[in-house]
Amino acid sequence: MSCMVCGAHAQITFYDKDDKSIKSYCRSCNNKIMAERHGLENPEYPQEITVKPNKGKQRRFSVEYLIFDGFHALSAYEIGPTQYQCEVTDDYERPFKDMWDELIRRLKKQISVKYVKKDGSLGDGHKAVGYLMYNDEIDDLAYIVDGIPYPWKEFIGRHIDNHEGWQLKIEFVPTSVEIE
Ligand SMILES: [Zn+2]
Repeated sequence: MSCMVCGAHAQITFYDKDDKSIKSYCRSCNNKIMAERHGLENPEYPQEITVKPNKGKQRRFSVEYLIFDGFHALSAYEIGPTQYQCEVTDDYERPFKDMWDELIRRLKKQISVKYVKKDGSLGDGHKAVGYLMYNDEIDDLAYIVDGIPYPWKEFIGRHIDNHEGWQLKIEFVPTSVEIE
């Protein structure tokens, strides 16, 4: 589908309650229209950023900001061999700058922590934080930890085998919420 305003590739398609029709827009036209409709700023921001961890090499991320009806979302996806990502969403009260600062802080934190050690164990923390996403190569959901996709059954199975007699806490959290 193409953007109804400029003809570019449409990234957003939604049902518009205001005039009861389907709308498709590119990111830039969507944000312009939504910012006007809701009286928000439509900020300029870099499409690509680099973030440096506390130790080690900097990583590149592509950044996407979208204004939806009722909330706005700022996301970053790593460009490169690993697949770190982060999303900050909030209502309109929260200024863009504030969301931007949270995004950078959380990315820096994520890439500074390593949950899986070289030998494949979870180390002294006995803990992993990651996200679940479909992966083409393994044709199944991957559990992405330290930016690396693992087949989820294999990952969970291995660490359960290593922790017989321990307690296990399972908690599902949306990607927009920071996990400690
Ligand atoms: Zn457009």
